[in-house]
Amino acid sequence: MRLHQLVKDIHFDDPIWQERHTITRPEQLREVLDEILRPPALDDMIAGLHKASMSVRINPYLLDLINWQDMEHDPIRKQFLPLASEMTASHPLQSFDALDETTDSPVEGLVHRYPDRALLLVTDRCPVYCRFCTRSYNVGVDTRSVIKIRAQSISHRWQSILSHLHMTPRIVDIVVSGGDCARLKASQLLEIGRGLLTIPSIRRIRFASKGLSVLPMKITRDGAWTDALTVVSDEGRRQGVEVSLQTHFNHPIEITSSVLSAANLLFTKGVMVRNQSVLLHGVNDDANVLGRLIKHLGDLHIHPYYVYLCDPVPGIEDMRVDLATACQLEKAVRGLTTGYNMPAFVIDTPGGGGKRLIHSYERYDRYSGLSTFTAPAVKAGRLFLYPDPLHTLSPDARRDWLDPQRAKAMVTDIQRQSA
Ligand SMILES: *Cc1c(COP(=O)(O)O)cnc(C)c1O
Ligand code: SF4
Repeated sequence: MRLHQLVKDIHFDDPIWQERHTITRPEQLREVLDEILRPPALDDMIAGLHKASMSVRINPYLLDLINWQDMEHDPIRKQFLPLASEMTASHPLQSFDALDETTDSPVEGLVHRYPDRALLLVTDRCPVYCRFCTRSYNVGVDTRSVIKIRAQSISHRWQSILSHLHMTPRIVDIVVSGGDCARLKASQLLEIGRGLLTIPSIRRIRFASKGLSVLPMKITRDGAWTDALTVVSDEGRRQGVEVSLQTHFNHPIEITSSVLSAANLLFTKGVMVRNQSVLLHGVNDDANVLGRLIKHLGDLHIHPYYVYLCDPVPGIEDMRVDLATACQLEKAVRGLTTGYNMPAFVIDTPGGGGKRLIHSYERYDRYSGLSTFTAPAVKAGRLFLYPDPLHTLSPDARRDWLDPQRAKAMVTDIQRQSA
């Protein structure tokens, strides 16, 4: 079916229909976008998807949000449908699993990096696949450029995760993520939530799902799923455990009337919602866009929690934003609304230092684009590096990065200065 037919379909607001009509192979775009995109643009997009490390997954709801007249600059298109012509070479310091999550895992499926909290990877599926995903080593199906590390299904590792948590009472805070909880069945969500509620040391549980922003009808129409979330939230509250939903909006355009209804439903059901955004070049690296996003989220009682600098994973170099721009943006938006709705701008430091406030760098060399961070409460004595994207550096600096010896010298220089 072509996009204009999909949009007119009477089932458009049905989440199952949306899933069933989700694009999962690049070539499917030929039919759907047939009347919208000229062949060169379509070829550019399909080539981009073949080159990308994330597989394609986008539903009619999102396709309908894209302004196809100006698709090159469209903030939704940029997040899910890369063009080969806009992709640039990866930074030499980029690597998969940039955050080193596979080495911080005591049992498979659990990332324990911070002293008191852990990340539970319950699924490797999401309702959509974002180009800039930090877990591109794991999330989604294999692409032509990446064979993913396969996670066992949650049921296999569930008991060993629970017993590990029982034996590790210093973990009081769990993020249930993956992947995305929207891809869990209601029964799985309930089983995981209730399982975690049996562990006396756990005080906080967060379910991560982009569903609210990319498939809002899931919240309003999939009663079983939303009920499961509400039940866990209510049971948690009765036993003194805070249960919340952690979601992911990047642009005010994503806040549609369906999102409004879904957010309102969660608010009336007493489910707390927090948002994490990723700062993306050409999407939201603009004070006006970011300011509107933060204001709108606050008005929906979605707490704007974090704004992340994009992790340096391969294939998204053109979308990354440099530290200096991020600092300016933070300065520009702070004060627009109440302080408790002002997100913390952070870098999730490559190498596993965890999230650090962007302004807290030790050193920042504007020539090489390298900044350094320390994380005394997470990994004392270690230094973490963040590289600005190459497209923000001078031609000289870009040349230097391509020379392995000079690249190494730039790294050791800033390490020495920060010592
Ligand atoms: C982000 C993250 C958490 C949660 O951190 P908060 O700052 O509490 O939101 C926990 N574990 C890992 C590995 C993370 O990346
Ligand atoms: S929804 Fe989250 S986990 Fe899934 S692809 Fe997007 S960024 Fe990655």
